This record gives sequence, structure tokens and C-alpha cells, in this order.
Amino acid sequence: MKCKEGVKIEVSARHVHLCQADVDRLFGEGYELTKHHDITGAFVANEKLVLIGPKRSIERVSILGPTRKETQVEVSLTDARTLGVEAKIRLSGDLAGTSGIKIKAVDTGNEIEIDHGVIAAKRHLHCGKPDAEELGLKNGDIVKLAIKNDMARALVFDDVEVRVGGPASVVHIDTDEGNACGIGKADVCTVIFEG
Ligand SMILES: [Zn+2]
Repeated sequence: MKCKEGVKIEVSARHVHLCQADVDRLFGEGYELTKHHDITGAFVANEKLVLIGPKRSIERVSILGPTRKETQVEVSLTDARTLGVEAKIRLSGDLAGTSGIKIKAVDTGNEIEIDHGVIAAKRHLHCGKPDAEELGLKNGDIVKLAIKNDMARALVFDDVEVRVGGPASVVHIDTDEGNACGIGKADVCTVIFEG
């Protein structure tokens, strides 16, 4: 068993990635999303969406730009229950056989319906090359994450998929997972690889 302490954790809130065709349908032909602020490898757009499920809607959902090949709606399982849709646990981009949903643009009121693309992001470790070498990790490996903070919700997550790349390691979990361990902004975790 190998361990790496002090690995950064980032919590992803619900968000939508749009393909250009869906940007056109929601905001008008050739429309370009405008940047509110940068995040690692992407930006949060000023434009907001409403997710409309058969049960309820969720207002003011962020869009992450730039546009992608396929529209993808990332929600927590709590959100999925609120909306009344199924969200399969998938890594980003793995959308075959996932549920669809209605999406409305707040600014224009335009509405579209996608026939697939709703996921709950599978928790994953973006493993920096130096850490990958040290721990002997490769793409697709599964590790555990031990989280201990002062929230009295210490937790070990299993089923964390490894994606090797970039200089520094960072773990991505969603808001349900973050709340389950009472995660804070500066929290770090220990990566455990049992090989
Ligand atoms: Zn990620």
C-alpha cells in the first residue's frame, strides 16, 4: 500500500457544458458565452440556465465554457432526485445511455431538450506526473481517499478513478460528497493506492 498526503480537493458544484449548437438554440445563432471568471482549465460564464426536470426545476445553474463537442449536465444525486431525473455516475464525456433533460436560458427564455447528457460526475483524481510515478499509478487505476478535518465527519472514499496528467494532483468530488465529509475550501486528503 502506498500513500500520498496533502493532496488538494476541489468540490464541483452543479454545472452545464454546452455544445455550440445548443448555445445557438439557447442564446441565438453564433452567440458566444461571456466570461465571468476563470477556473482551472475553463471559465464560468455570466449566462445562467434553468434545469427543468419532470419533478422540479433548479434555477441559476452555471455554464462552464468554452463550448464542448457534446452538451453535458453535471448534477449531484441530490439534484437528480430534486429534478426527478436519473443521473448515472460517469466520468466527464462518457455520456452514452445517460438521461436527458430540459434546459432553459434565463436571459432569453429559450428552451431546449437534450435526449442524453445528465451525469453525476464520478469522483476522480487528476494525478500529477510526479505523484503518478511515486505511487505507481496509471490511467483507470482506482484509489481511496482519506479525509480528516475538524468537522467530525472523517471519511474514506473508495472507487476514485485516476487520470494521469498535469503537474499537480487534485481530487474532484461533487457537493454531495463534499458535504458528506464536511469539506472546507483549504482541505486536503490522503490518497491511498493498494495496487
Ligand atoms: Zn476533474
